[in-house]
Amino acid sequence: MTTENLILPTEQETIPAETPVMTSFTELELNERLLKALDTLGFTTPTEVQAKTIPVAMTEADLLVSAETGSGKTAAFMLPILNKFHTNKAPKSATRALVLVPTRELARQVLQQTEALSQFTFVSAGMIVGGEDYKLQIKLLRSNPEILIATPGRLLEHLGQGALDLRDLEVLVMDEADRMLDMGFKDDVLTIANACKKERQTLLFSATLKQKGMRHVIKQVLREPQELLLTTAQDQHGSITQQIMLADDHEHKARQVLWLLKNETFHKAIIFTNTREMTNVLNTVLRREQDLRVSSLHGEMIQPDRNRVMMLLREGKVNILVATDVAARGLDIPGVDLVINLDMARNGDDYIHRIGRTGRAGQQGVAISMIGPHEWNLMASIERYLQVKFERKTIKGLEGQWRGPKKLKSNGKAAGTKKKKNTATKGSAKAAVKKTTKPKKPAAGKPKAPSRGSSSGVDTGFEPPRRKKASEA
Ligand code: AMP
Repeated sequence: MTTENLILPTEQETIPAETPVMTSFTELELNERLLKALDTLGFTTPTEVQAKTIPVAMTEADLLVSAETGSGKTAAFMLPILNKFHTNKAPKSATRALVLVPTRELARQVLQQTEALSQFTFVSAGMIVGGEDYKLQIKLLRSNPEILIATPGRLLEHLGQGALDLRDLEVLVMDEADRMLDMGFKDDVLTIANACKKERQTLLFSATLKQKGMRHVIKQVLREPQELLLTTAQDQHGSITQQIMLADDHEHKARQVLWLLKNETFHKAIIFTNTREMTNVLNTVLRREQDLRVSSLHGEMIQPDRNRVMMLLREGKVNILVATDVAARGLDIPGVDLVINLDMARNGDDYIHRIGRTGRAGQQGVAISMIGPHEWNLMASIERYLQVKFERKTIKGLEGQWRGPKKLKSNGKAAGTKKKKNTATKGSAKAAVKKTTKPKKPAAGKPKAPSRGSSSGVDTGFEPPRRKKASEA
């Protein structure tokens, strides 16, 4: 895992994580119409990003927030905007707030949430994104909504045509700024920011502030911003070394797992699989090895059996557990210092949960994920979601034939793989992780199947599992 230094301007003030924050929306001086909308939406408790952002944003300070999709960041920047516009009406003003987002899908999500939050107010919002009818957008701009949610390219076109006036702009939001830079929007964003009124509030949200070019954008666009530190998944797992090993197929994975269990130094290890069947198969394979003390756990086991396995583990009579996610949820086994993902976790949250079995209470731990050709893109999504770069581990003499995709896209996924149509939540890194759980095609050239059981010493009955539903685990 790599950790870069934060690249931030020196003049900004950092708000420490322990700053007192609100625990209820009613603690804020939000208009009752917004509180009513929150109530209608069932938002009872502010999320961490909301609790930390809203009070500061309401002071009109510029703000840098490292927040991920799914953290509740939309309401974090939109509530202060709506509160301000509802309270201080400015009917003669041109656009009052502009939210720049990297993708149409995110624009749609932000618009939907804005409409939901503003439903009891008279504040209006509109969306300007590429790929949609230009004339209709001109019509929308003429109606002069107070809030515009836009992707940079199309907005810039309208700006160039004089269809848009940002000289009255009070709040500029850059949402998912890292992705906008990734997608090559840096110059567009800077041009748009230059066209905005200088005395404005700017709020920048980004999953990471370490992105190349981010320092420049921050310097150009924000004035003495305050930075909000949020606890990221990465922070929570700093004591865990996260590695990947490439594997041709399950048989190859099994040989690597055997090697690791026989050669790595560890007290206790958990090996995760995605299915109950695979748990049983691997358990059987590993139990044939005289020098390994192995047991297994899956969701179908009856409680007395589960208890027995847990006791064996706690007492150290077995030190290797093969388990499914469901079986391992909530397990607190002290002394686990090695986690192996035989199958990559289906999404970022499951991955976090798995590796969180080790590195507990600040102890050091190692998490090794076996990545087959079909799992490369999933792995890349998880890296992106967690903002980590997994170390690549190889075992001399056990390298496979597949050495990873030949070419990578800027998001770390294999170049040349077919894009899925219509991923409903394309704007969401978290969702992207979830969406890629069952890739249909190998990420890159299919490896040749190594001959079964040849040099592995592993039982040749180690068939690739039939994929089953998560519920089976
Ligand atoms: P976002 O990160 O803004 O995309 O929000 C992620 C999801 O969380 C959206 O579906 C929101 O509707 C929801 N959400 C945002 N804030 C809250 C809250 N305080 N309580 C419950 N759900 C929320």
